[in-house]
Formats: sequence, structure tokens, C-alpha cells
Amino acid sequence: MLHHVNRLGGIHIEQLKKIWEWIGVNEVQMRHVLREPPGIGQVEVRMEAIGICGTDLHLMSGHAQFSSPPLPLGHELAGSIVRIGKQSDGWSIGDRVCIDPLIGCGSCPQCRSGNKHRCPTAGEIGLHYPGGWQQYFTVPASNLYALPDSVSFEEASQAETLHCCLGGIDKLSIQLGMHAVVMGDGPTGLYYVQLLKAAGVRCVTLVGMQEARLELGRSLGADYCVNLKTVDADLLPLMNTQDIAIDAAGTEQSLRSSIELLKIGGQLLLFGLPGKPIMVDIQAVVMKELKLLGSTNAPHVWPRVIDMLASHTVNVKPLLTHHYPFDQMNEALDYARLPSNQAIKIIVTNN
Ligand SMILES: [Zn+2]
Ligand SMILES: [Zn+2]
Repeated sequence: MLHHVNRLGGIHIEQLKKIWEWIGVNEVQMRHVLREPPGIGQVEVRMEAIGICGTDLHLMSGHAQFSSPPLPLGHELAGSIVRIGKQSDGWSIGDRVCIDPLIGCGSCPQCRSGNKHRCPTAGEIGLHYPGGWQQYFTVPASNLYALPDSVSFEEASQAETLHCCLGGIDKLSIQLGMHAVVMGDGPTGLYYVQLLKAAGVRCVTLVGMQEARLELGRSLGADYCVNLKTVDADLLPLMNTQDIAIDAAGTEQSLRSSIELLKIGGQLLLFGLPGKPIMVDIQAVVMKELKLLGSTNAPHVWPRVIDMLASHTVNVKPLLTHHYPFDQMNEALDYARLPSNQAIKIIVTNN
């Protein structure tokens, strides 16, 4: 790539990069822009793998308050370092990395105590700031984590999603032999199944709506799977039996079922975002003395996530079902938006 000597309007092509920008409701456009040299404390990363996330689609639909076009999205990111700015010690050109997209102010009490996700001014690359839908992406070096050779770029793109899930697991009090139910058969639900089994939960039930995803969940460790589209009566015998419920779907139905399935004193991890106020039976929460736990990001768990990827404690590969080259980002997003799409996780790779 760097050896091309073509000219475009008098500018050497190696000074330019392609970026995909979200430009309006469900619309993206590719542009050539100048590559900016990394500033103090920054590095330039050649993007090798970008995960397409439900959040990207949500932003593109124009329903999120905090983002507005034009903006390159993309927050599930892995690549290799191509240029290093001043005061970015400890990194070398060619280092393989994944990117923590969260940026805090760095000086408030939350940031200083390792909780930058709770910083009042925290923002995220690809949501509030320009994201990684770029061939070359300049980011703060302090947001990078080094990848072992055994972790592919595509797998590493999932570290961001996994780190949110692991943050949730950390908030639960898990004991060997417990029973847990995971509501939602999307990528986060499938990661939660694996994390719960790794944490010693005896019986994990995965509840979803797509047979292929539930089948995959079974192969990744789920003991029981319930397809709400076909046999929602299967949940009845599980009422009041679960120690843990993880709501990775964030719908009124998933939350209602979670409360019903939990036993007295059970723990409910709220992870999926409903996006609007929903009705919940708070009386049942009180009477069953449930513990409600909300969870978002978890900056301190990244090193453990990478260790779990390297050791295959969590198996990411089977979730990466669809692959597109960078130049076809628009087609990847079109496919992701199709209600009938068969993708679990779409990965966009360097051409
Ligand atoms: Zn995401
Ligand atoms: Zn802060």
C-alpha cells in the first residue's frame, strides 16, 4: 500500500486514506482524506479488522441523541501500528493491537480510580468521536492493548464486546453449581454463555429467537436452549429456579421473563439497552428480594479479556459468520440491516 506512487490531484496516494463516513439516516459514503501524522501520545494504526455492532446500526438510524453525521463510526477495532507520535513510549511499528474506544478526561476522580467509563465527560471512539471506519486511524497510545500472535485481528476486534460482558460477570457473585439464564442469543448472549460456564455455573439456559444462534449457543456450552418463537412454554418449568439472570436482550419481555425466572434472592444483570422506559413488575423484585445490577464498560478487564482470547477460554471464531473487505463497508452495513440476515457478527477486514 505504501509503495503506490499513483497521484490523485497532485497528492501522493500514500498520504491519503480511505474512510467510510455515516452521512445521514442509514447512509454511508467513502471518501479519501489526508492521513494525519500521530500527535503527542498518539499512534497511527492500520485497521485490520472492524466488527459491525448493533450500536453502529442504531446510530445510523438517527435515533441516538449523542451522535450526528458526518462521522466515521466503528468501535470494535484491531490493527497494527504504522506510525508512532512523540511520547508514545513502549510501542513499536508493526505491533499488533486492539483499541479500547473509551476516552475519559484523565483527571477526574473516576478516571484516576480506573473507572473512566464513569467520567462525567467520557466519550467513545466511533460514537462520540470519529471511529475506526478508516484505513489508517490515529488514536491515543494509552487506549491500545498488545495482542499475542495467537489472537487474530478478527478475534481481537471482539475484545471490546467481550470486555463489556466480562465487566458484567465481575459484578455478579457467582458460586460453583449455580443455575443461570441468559436472555438474548446475539453476540453478547453467546459470550455470556461461555463466561458463565468458565466461571463455574453448573447449568446455563440460553433464551433466544433464532434456531441457528441457539444451536451455536449449545455448541459453546449452553445446557438448555429455549426458542421463544416456537416453544416459549418451555420457560414455565424454569420459573423461580435461577440464581442468575442476564438480560442481554433489553426488551420488556426479556426483562419480565428474567424477573419471573429468578429464584428468591437471585441476581439480575441488566445489560441490554431497551432504549426507552419499559414496564417492570417492581413488586416482584421487592418480594423476591432480587439484586439488580447495571453494567456498561469495564476499563480494568481488558488484559484479562486478551488472555481469555489467547487461551480460548472464550471461543470467538464461530460467531464471526460474515466477512467483507473494507471497500465494501456499505454492503456489509446493508446486509446487517436486513431483517432476514443470517449474520451473528459481521467483520470488515483490510482489503
Ligand atoms: Zn459494539
Ligand atoms: Zn474523567
